[in-house]
Parts: sequence; C-alpha cells; structure tokens
Amino acid sequence: MKNKTFIKNGVTCKKLGGYIFVQVRMVWVAQHRLIVEEKIGRTLRSEESVHHLNSIKTDNHIENLMLFPTQAEHKSFENKIQQFGKTTNIQRQIRNRWKINTQQSQQVVDTFPPSYNSLGGL
Ligand SMILES: [Zn+2]
Repeated sequence: MKNKTFIKNGVTCKKLGGYIFVQVRMVWVAQHRLIVEEKIGRTLRSEESVHHLNSIKTDNHIENLMLFPTQAEHKSFENKIQQFGKTTNIQRQIRNRWKINTQQSQQVVDTFPPSYNSLGGL
C-alpha cells in the first residue's frame, strides 16, 4: 500500500497520509492543492491549506475543497464545526469560499509583499 502508485482517470497517483498525490514534472504534488490552483488560477503558497468539506481526503472534487490562508485558520474552522456544527455563518463562509479567496489573492498580488492577512483585512 505504501508508495504504491495507481492510475486514476489516466493519471498516475499515489496515496500519502490519506491524500492523493499526482506527479507533475517528476514532482509529487497533492492533488487537492493542484485542483484548487486550477480553480483560482495561481499557485498556492506553502502556508495556504486546503480543507475537504466532507472529511473524505480522497474526494478531490472542487465542490468538496475549501482554501484557507493558513493552517491555523483551517484548524480553527474545523474546531468551530466540531464545537457548534455547520452554523449559518459557517455555511455562508463555505458558500462564499471562492469569492473570498479570489479577492484575497488579488489583494496579495496588489500589495506584495503579502501582508493583507497580517493587516487584519480591510
Ligand atoms: Zn480540513
């Protein structure tokens, strides 16, 4: 099982830590990150973190993925759901997730070095 590759939709994959990795130019890349990159049209920064909404780490449909600026924000989102369930606020955050991330990525590009988040938003 460990490091064993398999073919899915014609792409060579392997599983690592429960996630699907695909090989891109001889480098193994987490497939869920690659799919988010395609969605938002830029590469992810290493500190950015992708959440699987249905908790199934191999379900890499874009509808199941949500991007966070940092691992800490990702974790606090998961903690909130664990504590309070999917509240109206959480549901809105999920619904608007691509709108927000697109805005953030543009902000970051406009204000390089990326200080948008550390400034506490607008
Ligand atoms: Zn998560």
